[in-house]
Amino acid sequence: MPISVKALQKTGPDAPFKVATIDRRDPRPDDVLIDIKAAGICHSDIHTIRNEWGEAHFPLTVGHEIAGVVEAVGSDVTKYKVGDRVGVGCMVNSCGECEECRDGQEQNCTRGGMVGTYDSEDVDGSITQGGYSEKVVVNQDFVLRIPDALDFDVAAPLLCAGITTYSPLATWDAAPGKKVAVLGLGGLGHMGVQIAAAKGAEVTVLSRSLKKEQEAKELGATRTLATSEEDFFKNHRGEFDLILNTISASIPVDKYMSLLKPRGVMAVVGLPPEKQAFSFGSVIGGRKAIAGSNIGGIPETQEMLDFCAEHGFGAKIEKVSVHEVDDAYERVVAGDVKFRCVIDTSTFADAEVEA
Ligand code: NAP
Ligand code: ZN
Repeated sequence: MPISVKALQKTGPDAPFKVATIDRRDPRPDDVLIDIKAAGICHSDIHTIRNEWGEAHFPLTVGHEIAGVVEAVGSDVTKYKVGDRVGVGCMVNSCGECEECRDGQEQNCTRGGMVGTYDSEDVDGSITQGGYSEKVVVNQDFVLRIPDALDFDVAAPLLCAGITTYSPLATWDAAPGKKVAVLGLGGLGHMGVQIAAAKGAEVTVLSRSLKKEQEAKELGATRTLATSEEDFFKNHRGEFDLILNTISASIPVDKYMSLLKPRGVMAVVGLPPEKQAFSFGSVIGGRKAIAGSNIGGIPETQEMLDFCAEHGFGAKIEKVSVHEVDDAYERVVAGDVKFRCVIDTSTFADAEVEA
């Protein structure tokens, strides 16, 4: 018997969220049923459900920053037991057999691709529904362990914003002696600053203004620069080894490439809906690179959670109720959140299901 749960749903890109009931599958032998305690709001949720990346499947529930407690396990589950503190990120399945999956890079699965936590075709042909909800059922191999040191609400955003910044910072070696610029101080950016600083790099925040300068410092940045300042690109030419680009909108790529030292790398994680253009001259001169990075694999996600717990930080969050999510979306788009909105899923309890 499927399990009926409350969830926030949109019936179309312009419709407001409403509280609806959706079915979660009856746990299979290798599934875990999770009672969701907190669900982060990622800008990818917004791009998806507003059809900015293409046609989404409606009605849809998004959310891929999920933290909660194991409520039940299938008969073959060995990794988790009832009561465990767990999380789910951006994927809920993959083939498990291709080279990438065997290498713990399930996000790059080459046989059909990973199954996204929402708006993705599941193994049974249904469309996956995300974490703005009371409960979720997920294969044990795509469930992470949340360290005791991290509360659910500050841990939830790590499942996407944390791993999406941790993985490129590890790949392109944010370390002592390296000058790292974090471009955009939103949900991803604020995790990038904390992680790069904890790895010992010298971190500069590149933001549109100096509005978040004090917070950036508290997160571990040595300085914040306003990209709107006069002669910004001229004044900071050739300063950085690595730019972590988290911006959700179009940017003048060539100008940002000029901020890199020779052999510097721009690691792109922000995915604006519009195509971005750059000149080959920007990468040929100085042998620079523009590289992309998509979340991170399951083993590295666990490593990131443990790293954050060891270093004593999670996300900086603003809690919102299930009735405040439309408003939260507007604030995210306006860059007005410090730094991640997280849905307090206990507020589903009193919420009426809408027709
Ligand atoms: P967010 O919280 O909205 O942060 C984005 C930041 O970009 C804003 O805080 C703002 O920084 C900057 N920004 C926004 N509009 C801008 C504009 N017009 N010009 C210049 N800067 C602007 O979003 P997020 O959740 O961190 O996600 C960021 C992007 O990463 C999104 O496109 C999302 O889809 C993508 N993403 C990718 C992956 C992946 O695996 N690659 C994973 C998750 C998310 P300031 O206010 O500091 O200027
Ligand atoms: Zn995300």
